[in-house]
Amino acid sequence: MGKSDELLMQQNSTAELQPKDAMYIFGPCSAESRDQVLSTARGIAQHFPGALFRSGIWKPRSRPGAFEGIGEAGLTWLNEVKTETGLEPITEVATPAHVEAILRHNIKYVWIGARTSVNPFSVQELSDSLRGTGITAFVKNPVNPDLALWIGAIERLMGAGLKDVHAIHRGFYAHESAPFRNAPRWELVIDLKTALPDLKVICDASHISGNPELIADVAQKSVDLDFQGLMIETHINPQAALSDAFQQVTPDRLFEIICSLKFRSASSSDHQAIDKLTELRNRVDATDDAIIQALLSRMSLIRQIGLHKLKNEMTIFQLQRWEEILQRTSLAAEASGLSAEFVKCLWEVIHNESIRIQHDLFNTSESS
Ligand code: PEP
Ligand code: MN
Repeated sequence: MGKSDELLMQQNSTAELQPKDAMYIFGPCSAESRDQVLSTARGIAQHFPGALFRSGIWKPRSRPGAFEGIGEAGLTWLNEVKTETGLEPITEVATPAHVEAILRHNIKYVWIGARTSVNPFSVQELSDSLRGTGITAFVKNPVNPDLALWIGAIERLMGAGLKDVHAIHRGFYAHESAPFRNAPRWELVIDLKTALPDLKVICDASHISGNPELIADVAQKSVDLDFQGLMIETHINPQAALSDAFQQVTPDRLFEIICSLKFRSASSSDHQAIDKLTELRNRVDATDDAIIQALLSRMSLIRQIGLHKLKNEMTIFQLQRWEEILQRTSLAAEASGLSAEFVKCLWEVIHNESIRIQHDLFNTSESS
């Protein structure tokens, strides 16, 4: 029994390899040759017969002269993948001409890349060219961490009548993104899910990670955050890849990564487990109520201080006092084991609100 078979058996005994409703999108960054496309697809289909097969045909490269994709000829190979392995192909479209080409080749799935979703004009043109086609579209987050732009791109495609529009989280450009290639900023995906609760979100663990070592951890994090699928760049010979060689994995490594994931469910059939969770959540609610009461008392004192400063012609902001607060709270964080960064951020928000309240007080009494 090979290593892969052992892993498959272990996996089958603990969790499904591809949980029901999860969408997997695996395949190379770019289609390079017929052989590379077909041998990668065979390796993937062996373990993941339900996956979509990704492959970039037109590649957005920062500078001209790099490999800019094989072009329309590659679409024929993608159709061969479908006929031979049953995997449905998916590729990136960035212009209406790309859409026309994929329609000519009967491709049913596309994604909009991060360099396109950043531009509302391009997204609108693409949406118009996809109108009435029944294509399933995945929208990658824009390069910059602008949630409205991401939601806007999804809305434009839905507005063109596409019924199946999903999101792909591929991380965001950041000045300092280490250890990632693109900063994940998971909180933005939580905001996206809150704004569009029915939207399915897939995690592109490859473009977030930028190297094979981080992919499993990033993928696990997305599973724990209840994402609906994964995109992982897979190449039969990663070192020889013409784009993103540094982050692609072989089909065997892909299989090991997926086998290492722990799939959990948002709920449980064990009533005792549910009851215990409810009890703990009730206690969290009570603690939240106490936090609100504590904030109310603080802000009431802040108002009294504001009136006192106003009467005695003292400034609202006093650097020395702010430094004192930062120091006290950071010592308290250290002593209690809370994260220093968390406590600092929290008190910045509280302090800003206190300043706002005192400004309001000053303005009201000056205008009255
Ligand atoms: C890709 O998926 O190969 C790609 C170009 O991704 P992104 O648009 O996320 O950079
Ligand atoms: Mn890539």
